Amino acid sequence: MAERAASPAFPVVQAGAGWDAVDFISDLHLQAQDPHTFSAWRRYLAGTPASAVFILGDLFEAWVGDDAAAAPGFAADCAQVLREASARRPVFFLHGNRDFLVGDTLARTGGFTLLPDPVVFTFGPHHWLLTHGDALCLSDTDYLAFRAQVRDPAWQAAFLKRPLSDREALARQMRDASEHHHQAAGYAADVDDSLARQWLEAAGAATMIHGHTHRPADHALGQGLRRIVLSDWEARATPARLQALRVAPDGTCERIDLSA
Ligand code: MN
Repeated sequence: MAERAASPAFPVVQAGAGWDAVDFISDLHLQAQDPHTFSAWRRYLAGTPASAVFILGDLFEAWVGDDAAAAPGFAADCAQVLREASARRPVFFLHGNRDFLVGDTLARTGGFTLLPDPVVFTFGPHHWLLTHGDALCLSDTDYLAFRAQVRDPAWQAAFLKRPLSDREALARQMRDASEHHHQAAGYAADVDDSLARQWLEAAGAATMIHGHTHRPADHALGQGLRRIVLSDWEARATPARLQALRVAPDGTCERIDLSA
C-alpha cells in the first residue's frame, strides 16, 4: 500500500532532523525481584547507538503512581536510569496495561516524552503506527472492561489519592486476578487483525509496531500492511529474551539481540 499523509485524526510524533536509527522496546516488566533484566535494560540504554528510544508500554511490571519514585528504592532507580538515558538521546514512552499510571511527574524527572496510544511516528518518508497493543485484543472482553475503568481520569485521580501501601497491595491483587483469569481461560488474547488493518488504514501507515502479547513476529496483513510484534524481556530465561527493534529512515528494520 502506498503510504498517504498521516491522518489528522491520529496524533503524530515526528523524527528529529538527522536521526539515523530508532529503537523500539516493550514489555520489560521491570520489578525489584528481577535485578538481571533491570541491569540489562540499563546497559542497553547506556550503549545503544540509536538516535531515539521508544518504549511501547509495560516497562514496569506495576506502577502505582509517580510518588513511588520519590523515596529511594527500585522505582527511584528506574527513574534515574531513564534520566541518564534521556540525557543522551530522546526517550519516548507510551502506556501499557501494567504501567498506565506513569504520569507527568515521572516524565519530567525521567526526562522522557509521554505519547498517546496509538500515535503515528513519521520517520523519513515512512509512517509507523505505534501502540502497546492491549486495546486491539478484542477477545479479552474482561480486560477491556477493566481497561475502560482504569483509564478513566476520575478513577485514576481517586486511586492516586489512596496511600501508597494500599495502592501497592491493590496492584498485587489485580495482577494475581489477571494471572488467574489467563490460566482459567487457558490462552492469552491476541491482536485482532481486522481492527489492526482498520487502524493502519485510518492512520495512513503501512506498519504497526506493538508489544503486549509477548509473541514476537512479523505479520503480513494484506495490501502491503503489516504488524510487527516486539519481544518481551527476561534476562534469566533460556535463551535470554533481551531484544530491541531497530528501524532505519529507509523503512528497514531488524531485531537486535542484546544478550550476545
Ligand atoms: Mn501489556
